[in-house]
Amino acid sequence: MRKDPVCGMPVDQKTPFTAECEGKMFRFCSEGCREKFLSDIICKSTRDSYDLIVIGGGPAGLTAAVYAATLRIDALLISRDLGGQAIDSTKVENYMGFDFITGPELVDKFRHQLIHSHYIDHLIAEVEAVEADEEGYRVKTPAAAYRARALLVATGMTRRKLGIPGEEDFQRRGVFYGNIPDFSQVEGWDVAVIGGGNSALQIVENLQPVAGAIHLISNSELKADQAVIERACRIPSLIRHEGFQAQVFSGDKHLSGVAIRKRGEEKMVEILVRGVFIAVGLQPNSGLAAPLLELNERGEIPIGPDCSTSRRGLFAAGDVTDAFGKRIIIAAGEGAKAAIAAREYLLHLKKRKCVTQS
Ligand SMILES: Cc1cc2nc3c(=O)[nH]c(=O)nc-3n(C[C@H](O)[C@H](O)[C@H](O)COP(=O)(O)OP(=O)(O)OC[C@H]3O[C@@H](n4cnc5c(N)ncnc54)[C@H](O)[C@@H]3O)c2cc1C
Repeated sequence: MRKDPVCGMPVDQKTPFTAECEGKMFRFCSEGCREKFLSDIICKSTRDSYDLIVIGGGPAGLTAAVYAATLRIDALLISRDLGGQAIDSTKVENYMGFDFITGPELVDKFRHQLIHSHYIDHLIAEVEAVEADEEGYRVKTPAAAYRARALLVATGMTRRKLGIPGEEDFQRRGVFYGNIPDFSQVEGWDVAVIGGGNSALQIVENLQPVAGAIHLISNSELKADQAVIERACRIPSLIRHEGFQAQVFSGDKHLSGVAIRKRGEEKMVEILVRGVFIAVGLQPNSGLAAPLLELNERGEIPIGPDCSTSRRGLFAAGDVTDAFGKRIIIAAGEGAKAAIAAREYLLHLKKRKCVTQS
């Protein structure tokens, strides 16, 4: 059995916590160890100038990178992880070619394709800033800066917080974001899931075999796909609180309850739970692009049909954009489209350069 390179614990081949660095795959026992590894070790790329830099290693960025490799674009992929949100999906039932596949399994296939493209450089790092100049773009990571003539932003989205009292105090001591791989902390206990979308209902389904009563708290009607709603609502231990908002988390060393209130009413209702799983949507990671172009009212990057933006040479794909539908297959398709469009742009630049020189 392999060992976690950070804590030395044995790790299962199937662990969802992986990171790929300089072509080698590392496996970890927990998200904490993976985070530590990524913050301690920055894989160094030997070059600092490319035609295209892709930022983000979720389905959009990984697909863009594989397309860039097959289109023979001189490209670098920079991401703080390879997989993005898709790694959190326990059941992907809507990706063509697979009746059912888990997020980590699908992401493993994406990564395999990237690593075996043998053409594109990739770097595990956080991009801190992006600047534009006449030559193109400058991309800054904590360890180095890279230049590119075109840029493809595929930075996806991250989980929204509730911003209510107790949320920070009980993080990982009863308050969790999204799905977690190990429910042992709440085994046999009553729990609550906050949210009404596909993510929230997927968590409800995953909790059913381990938890006691499952309180589903949503501030409006459930918004998940109808098939998912029907399945979740057949769970006998599910108690629905529709039109309610969480107000405050309480407990001592560990979370013991959440107070909720119906919209427009004063009275609080206290629910005793050992764990709360928050899945109230996501916000676009568009901060890097914000100084370079105007975002829409949801903070997304507006794109054209070919994933181009209002700035020349800057392309965007996936959940960070205003493209309709936040799904793996859509992000992957948009990533492919953006890589093709970036290649057209680079060819156009090269032709212009030839004309100017002749
Ligand atoms: C719990 C859950 C379940 C889901 N289930 C399904 C499902 O069953 N079917 C389905 O189709 N969709 C599902 N989705 C939605 C799907 O995962 C997303 O639509 C898809 O992952 C979007 O891909 P993306 O590449 O645009 O962004 P993301 O997956 O968000 O990837 C963004 C990438 O950018 C990187 N990044 C961000 N900022 C920086 C930075 N500054 N520097 C470096 N790297 C950066 C991130 O680390 C990440 O690798 C689910 C989502 C969640 C959260």
